[in-house]
Amino acid sequence: MTTRPLPPITPDSRPFWDGCAHGELRVQRCRACAGLQLPPRARCRACGADTFDWATLPPRGVVYSFTIVHRAPTPAFRDDVPYVLALVEVAPGARLMLNVVDCEASAMGIGAPVDIGFEPREADGATAFLPVARLSPATDPPDARPAAR
Ligand SMILES: [Zn+2]
Repeated sequence: MTTRPLPPITPDSRPFWDGCAHGELRVQRCRACAGLQLPPRARCRACGADTFDWATLPPRGVVYSFTIVHRAPTPAFRDDVPYVLALVEVAPGARLMLNVVDCEASAMGIGAPVDIGFEPREADGATAFLPVARLSPATDPPDARPAAR
């Protein structure tokens, strides 16, 4: 049996993962330039400073880009394909690569609003809460739009 790996948790990313376990989307805010960034890094991408606070954002974002995965990266993901993997912008400069769950690939599009939830994954006796995206219910399906006349 293959298990899905947990994400590597580093001292820089620990506050992000602790936030996920509490159902919160936490992003780094640079103390020097106030820029927001995800994924967590040791230094600010904008100014190079190395001190951060953490801001909690509403768990929402917009699809910046996406792909549809047809070939599982490891056997543990074989039952999931095809699935949608999206780069989701949660704030200017802060983007996360997220699985989009409960989503037909044909419904996906750049600029689509998504809601972010947190789902537990266990491996080797440890548990992590992984952020996942779902298309926002505010998004009208294409066939709900008024027909052009
Ligand atoms: Zn900065």
